Amino acid sequence: RDKGVTEWKYATCGYCSVGCSIEIGVNKEGTPVTTRGVGGADVNRGKLCIKGLTEAQIFQAAGRGAEPKIRNKTFEDWQITDWDTALDKTAAEFKRIQEKYGRDSVAVISTGQIMTEEFYTLGKLVRGVIGTNNYDGNTTLCMASAVSGYKRSFGSDGPPGCYEDFEHTDCLLAFGSNLCEQHPIIYWRLKEALEKRKFPVIVVDPRVTMFAQFADIHLPITPGTDLVLLNSLAHVILKEGLADQEYIERCCSGYEDFAAEVEKFDPTSAAKICGIDEDTIRHVARLYAKAGAAMSIWTMGINQSTHGSDGVCGINNLNLITGNIGKPGGTSLSITGQCNAMGTREWSSCSGLPGYRALENAEHREEIGKFWGVDPEFFPKKRGLFQTDIFPAIETGQIKALWVVATNPMTSMPNSARIRKTMEKLEFCVVQDSYEDVETAQYAHVYLPGSVWAEKKGCFTNTERRVNITTPVMAPYGNSKPDVWIFSQMAKRWEQGAKMSFPLDTADVFDEMKQLSKGDHRILDISGMSHELIEQKRGIQWPMREGDSEGTQRLYADGKFCYPDGKAKLMAMPWVDNNEVPDEDYPFWMNSGRVVEHFHTRTKTGKVGNCNKFSPTPYMEMNPDAAEELGIKHMSYVRLVSRRGDAVVMVQLTHRVAFNAVFIPFHFHDCVNRLSLGLLDPYSRQPAFKQCTVRIEHV
Ligand code: SF4
Repeated sequence: RDKGVTEWKYATCGYCSVGCSIEIGVNKEGTPVTTRGVGGADVNRGKLCIKGLTEAQIFQAAGRGAEPKIRNKTFEDWQITDWDTALDKTAAEFKRIQEKYGRDSVAVISTGQIMTEEFYTLGKLVRGVIGTNNYDGNTTLCMASAVSGYKRSFGSDGPPGCYEDFEHTDCLLAFGSNLCEQHPIIYWRLKEALEKRKFPVIVVDPRVTMFAQFADIHLPITPGTDLVLLNSLAHVILKEGLADQEYIERCCSGYEDFAAEVEKFDPTSAAKICGIDEDTIRHVARLYAKAGAAMSIWTMGINQSTHGSDGVCGINNLNLITGNIGKPGGTSLSITGQCNAMGTREWSSCSGLPGYRALENAEHREEIGKFWGVDPEFFPKKRGLFQTDIFPAIETGQIKALWVVATNPMTSMPNSARIRKTMEKLEFCVVQDSYEDVETAQYAHVYLPGSVWAEKKGCFTNTERRVNITTPVMAPYGNSKPDVWIFSQMAKRWEQGAKMSFPLDTADVFDEMKQLSKGDHRILDISGMSHELIEQKRGIQWPMREGDSEGTQRLYADGKFCYPDGKAKLMAMPWVDNNEVPDEDYPFWMNSGRVVEHFHTRTKTGKVGNCNKFSPTPYMEMNPDAAEELGIKHMSYVRLVSRRGDAVVMVQLTHRVAFNAVFIPFHFHDCVNRLSLGLLDPYSRQPAFKQCTVRIEHV
C-alpha cells in the first residue's frame, strides 16, 4: 500500500540485539509511516521480523511523554513543568539525600535501550559527578551471566564469534535459546546456511520450542541442570581422548582442576540429574568433538539461572577443550537480548569504568580521572550493587532515591509484589522514559520524557560486536529530549559537572570514546571507527584499531586471551543444587520466555496494532495430560500460585511442555513476575527467572 513515503532514512532496529539495518519511510509532513529491511551485506539481508516491520508506529504511539512532569507525592496528579524545573528538582533531591544519608544512598538503574554515546555520558555523570556507586543496568536481568562467564573464562567480556560462523560450522549446539521467536533474523541466517550445507543442530531446552522442533536433536533437559550436562559432555570428550590437547596446552590454564571435576560427571550419574539419557550424552559429545568446527549459542535459558555464570563457563570449557574458539564456525556466541545491551556493557560504567575498565584497578581509575578531569580518589575502589541488590537495599533503607532510565523494573523484576512495596519506601524517584505510562512511573516524583531511538543519532553494538548507527528520522516528539541532552543538563547542576565537558553532539562523544579505547592492550578498541565510516559500512565489528581498514570478525583467533598469562582458564565447576524444585505443594516447574510479537515489558510493542493483534494477552502453556488429571479445559482461566504470589492466566493446552511444567510469556505486567523467584546467581547476580515452582488452582 502506498503510504506516501517521500524519503527513506537509515537506522538500526531499536528492539533486539540482532541489529537489523532498517530504513524508515517518512511522508511529506516528516512523519515516519513505515519501515523496510536493508539488503546487501547488512546483517539481516533485507529481512525484518514483525517488530521491525511495525516499528514506525512507536514514534507517536499512545503514552508518549511530551513534557516533563513533577509531583510531591506518588499517585497524586502530575503537574506539567519545564525542563529546568524538573532537572532542578531532581538534582536538589539527589543532593539533599546524599548529604543526609551518604553518597551511595542514591541509585541509578539504566538500560540496554539508549545509544552507546548516551551510556558513556551517563557513566561520566554517575561516576564522575553524582558519585554514587550504586549504579547498574537492566542487563543484570538478561546478559550478566554471559558477561561474568566470559570474564572468568577469557579474562574479558566480549562475544568471540559472529553470525557468519553459521556458514562455517559443522555442528551447532544451542542452549536455552528459542532463536526462531527471540531472534528471528539470526534464525534466518542459520536457515540460509543450512540450505547451502547440512550440519547437525542440537537444541537443549526443557520446552519443545519452535527451535527445538527445527533441530536434529532436542535435549529436553531438567530445569537448572545445564551445568551437569556440560560437565558430562566434557567428561566424555576427555575420557574418549577427543579433546584438542595441543590447543589446551598452548592456550589454556587450569586443566588439572577442571579434569578432576568433570571426572565426577560420568554420563550414567549425570543422566539421573539432567534427564538426558546417557547414550544421548555420549552421542552429542562425540558429534561435537569430532566436528571440524563446532559452535555453541545460548540465551536466557542459561543466563537466567542460579548457575548462569557457571553455565556460560561450562560452554566456554567445551569450546576450549575442543579448540573451538576464534576459528570460523568454532566459537562461543551469547545471543544478546536488547538492541544495545552490548553498548551498556562496553561504555556505561555500570560495572566499572568505560571501555571495559575496572574500578578495582588503580591504573584504570587514574586514566579515567585524568581524561575526565576528576580526582581518581573520587571513584569507588570496587563496584557497588547490582540492580537485583539495589531493591533489597531500598527495602532496608540503605537507598533513598532512585533514577530509572528507560527500563521498567515494576514489570521486569522477579517477585513484583515485593518490588511494589519496595518502591513505596523511596523518598524520591525519577523515571526517564519515552513513554509516560510505563508502570514504574507510578512511583516517580519526576518524569523526564526521553526521545525514542530514531529521533536522535548514535550507535548500538549488536550480538556479534557490530557497531551500527541510527540517524534521526524526525525531531523529538513534543518537548522530549535526547538522553544525552538530559544527562549533560543534569551534570551542569553540580559544581564538578559544570567544570567538565559534556558534549551534546554524539559524534563528539564518540570521539572521546575512541580516544579512551586506543592502546595495544585494549580488546575493545574502536579508534579506527567514526560515525561516517560506520554508516558507510553499515556496521563495523570491534576491535577496529586506528589504521585498520576493517573490523574484526572473531576474537582470540591467535589463541591469546585477556588474562595476564595470555591463556584462557578452564573452570572447574562443582554443581550444587540450590534451585526450588517441584514438591507436593508446588508440583509444576514454571518457565518464562519471549514471544515474537513483543519486546520486554511491552512499553513499545503493547502500543503496536499488529503485535497486539497476534499476541493480545498473557497465557499459560500446559500439558493436556496434566490438565485432564486436574480437570482443566483449553482456554479456561486458572490461578497459578507460587511461594511469592499468584496470577490468573488463560490455559493453552499443548505438548510443547512436559507433564510437570508450564510456560508463560514474561512480557505482561502483573503476571509471571508475581510468581517468579528472586534467587540470584552468585557471580552475575542474575535472577533464576526460569526455575521456580507453582501449583494450579481452579478460579
Ligand atoms: Fe529488530 Fe530484532 Fe526483529 Fe531484527 S530481529 S527486526 S533487530 S526486533
